[in-house]
Amino acid sequence: MQLALRRRLRLPLPLRLNRCGPSPGCGGLVDVFGDHALACPRTGLLARRAKIVERAWVRVAREAVGADGQVVPQQWLCATTAPGVAPDDRRRLDLVIYGASPMGGALCCDATLVSPLTRTGQPQPGTVADDGAMLRVAERRKRAAYPELSSGGPQRLLVLGSEIGGRWNETAQHLVRDLARVRAQRAPPALRAAATSAWTRRWWATLAVALQQAVSSTALGSPWPAPPHASQPPGPELDRVLDLAEAAGPSHGRPRQQEKGSLAEHPDQLCKYSAHAHSQARGIRDRDQLG
Ligand SMILES: [Zn+2]
Repeated sequence: MQLALRRRLRLPLPLRLNRCGPSPGCGGLVDVFGDHALACPRTGLLARRAKIVERAWVRVAREAVGADGQVVPQQWLCATTAPGVAPDDRRRLDLVIYGASPMGGALCCDATLVSPLTRTGQPQPGTVADDGAMLRVAERRKRAAYPELSSGGPQRLLVLGSEIGGRWNETAQHLVRDLARVRAQRAPPALRAAATSAWTRRWWATLAVALQQAVSSTALGSPWPAPPHASQPPGPELDRVLDLAEAAGPSHGRPRQQEKGSLAEHPDQLCKYSAHAHSQARGIRDRDQLG
């Protein structure tokens, strides 16, 4: 938390070394804001930090599809329905989600975390005038890496892009919306709007925390000591998350904007609404258990 705030406020980080490396590393000067560590490809930390966000996506997807679907981390591309892939192809996808697509196809996901700054703290080309420019570069690269997933068929490539400052690409936002819809279908009809909102907020919190853990650990030059493991129980029951529901139902805004106009501005309304939804969920669960 303190590291995330320091990054946000451009305050120096408590770094031990002033050189990158020596091994692995490029030997270059390390700045006190962590910009070098967050963009240097020579330390090996960029690939390791991606794991933290990747595992958060696996957890979110598993909570969403439950027993009706399946989430396979580190799936071989040749094990999907993508056409024209040789059986000995060694490309892997970060996660493949079955049971969340309306057409029944596999969602082949590649999670990526990019920095809009270079190793020297300078903006990457195009990022000053164009928000999310590096996300689009990453999307193009991933599409080029998996051309088979864009050549028709039931499977789809989803590049789940995020920036070290906390920005998420459109695809990531759409996926959370779709997963919340899938998860809410298993709630009683009267609670679906509240359930959608609650799961959405829970999952954005999960993803945002994972992203900041990944950023902080990389900025300090070390991998996060204990990344949350993906193979965890399928998540809490609905009545445990309904407290997170927004008063006015699910937000259609970007993750950061969801904070506005909900808990902070209408705490009474939110409490009343979630208490009502909460007791409804309990009532339905108790009735089901009795019946
Ligand atoms: Zn370096």
